[in-house]
Amino acid sequence: MASMDQIVSLCKRRGFLFQSSEIYGGLNGFWDYGPLGIELKRNIKEAWWQDMVLRHDDLNQQPGSPAPYSMTGIDSTLILHPQVWKCSGHYDLFHDFMVDCRESKKRYRLDQVVGRWGTAKGKRAFVTAQVGDEAAAQMERQAMKFFNLRAKSLDELTWESDSQSLADLSEFTEVLGPDAKNLDTLTTPREFNLMFKTTIGALGGEDDTAFLRPETAQGIFVNFKNVIDSTRYRLPLGIAQMGKSFRNEITPRNFTFRSREFEQMEIEFFCHPQESADWYRYWRDRRMQWYLDLGISSERLRLREHEEAELSHYSTGTADIEYAFPFLEPGEYGELEGIAHRGDFDLRSHMEGKLDEKRRPLEVELGEDGKPKWRGSGKDLSYRDEITNEKYIPHVIEPSAGADRATLAFICEAYHEDQAPDEDGKMQTRTVLRFHPRIAPIKAAVFPLVKKDGMPEMAKEIYLALKRRFNVFYDEKAAVGRRYRRQDEAGTPYCITVDGQSLQDQTVTIRDRDSLEQIRLPASEVVAWISERVMQ
Ligand code: ATP
Repeated sequence: MASMDQIVSLCKRRGFLFQSSEIYGGLNGFWDYGPLGIELKRNIKEAWWQDMVLRHDDLNQQPGSPAPYSMTGIDSTLILHPQVWKCSGHYDLFHDFMVDCRESKKRYRLDQVVGRWGTAKGKRAFVTAQVGDEAAAQMERQAMKFFNLRAKSLDELTWESDSQSLADLSEFTEVLGPDAKNLDTLTTPREFNLMFKTTIGALGGEDDTAFLRPETAQGIFVNFKNVIDSTRYRLPLGIAQMGKSFRNEITPRNFTFRSREFEQMEIEFFCHPQESADWYRYWRDRRMQWYLDLGISSERLRLREHEEAELSHYSTGTADIEYAFPFLEPGEYGELEGIAHRGDFDLRSHMEGKLDEKRRPLEVELGEDGKPKWRGSGKDLSYRDEITNEKYIPHVIEPSAGADRATLAFICEAYHEDQAPDEDGKMQTRTVLRFHPRIAPIKAAVFPLVKKDGMPEMAKEIYLALKRRFNVFYDEKAAVGRRYRRQDEAGTPYCITVDGQSLQDQTVTIRDRDSLEQIRLPASEVVAWISERVMQ
């Protein structure tokens, strides 16, 4: 698999991803999609919407689905009523702990720092590093500096413990920060809410504080009743939404994997409590299959069921779909999507206010007037089935995916280097992105072999016919071998060339990106041939 450096460099060189505000030095945790990146991400989101929302199983004919069901979508705002976040728990619970280093002025997420107790030359320290593939080597380098050891006197260093999280220490004494030279420069951990704050209106007092949504899910819960009341859908019903979410991550890193502004693709699937376990299994398996069908290899993708201790108190099942990203150590995986059985927690919270572990409304803060400052909406968000007349609070299965993490995984998966003949027939290394044709940013490129004899005219005609259906590229510059290479790097599955013979018999060649095979086809059949392959 390619290294992360190769991927980052290709993404910049070919216009998949740029650092946000790069000319001003960039903004940590924010990324812009370039001309190829936007098409790739759009295609991934479009495939998700097509497959999950529009092609849902309403006639119960797809294998594995427990019953026919409905699917629909919404597009809610980025800023919601602040009460939404109080009832969802984000206001009180959505935080990480961070520590600052007084010496290096760096900030770390507590659970992202690991360390080992080491002694040498009569000194002792908990030597730390940031979690990641370099952690062990980094710890050793820190220890050598701190204990003043050379490589050949490294055996003077004794590690007294295995690697453990900084969060496991009860007090921070004798701790050497990941980038510090002296002991005990880390501050005590502080809680840090991950929601971005903003102010509504011109005057902007404390009461006007609002938050950018940290997930799209809550927009769906608060609209559940609206959707049911304005449509004729019966449960089971999934409501989908995709859009931006914001989290003020303490340590954004690993390219777009952990960003501060990112896009989510979420479904809240509402069903009868007695059927929810079956639907949980259905969505878990269906979502896993979706990545496989779009070309992620099963060797790098895994479905990990959470252990009981990992589950939220309201959840009876949660699974993560994880990908072996190249920035991780062998055997490590990063989350692409979580599928959670959320019970009736969310709807109930929005009805009754924030709930404790036994689902009783928690004691609420009292305002100056002695009245509770906030509680649930007080609205009845239960559902009455029009046929059975049964009334209940639906259970929810939530497949929650990240569009940016999926895009990054598809790029990592597609990246290959192989040997292919150049324009002089010599074998050369080529970089090729083997995207599934459905998500490839450019579906086909059209070239006249040379820029004369009527070839450009015929090529342009084919280009225009294709362009009405999907993103295609016309190129008449440089040798044709060079043009093929450029399309390989962009992941274009098919290149169509108009040559001398085309002018005689109205045929063109189509070159396949992966097999490098070329076939000849009547020009009149090109649109149908390409469409069949890229619009599955
Ligand atoms: P993590 O543990 O990696 O922070 P999470 O469990 O908090 O992720 P969820 O709240 O379940 O993530 O969000 C659902 C999906 O949204 C994730 O699976 C991921 O694809 C995406 N996502 C969450 N946070 C980020 C982020 N900071 N940058 C990019 N994508 C994200």
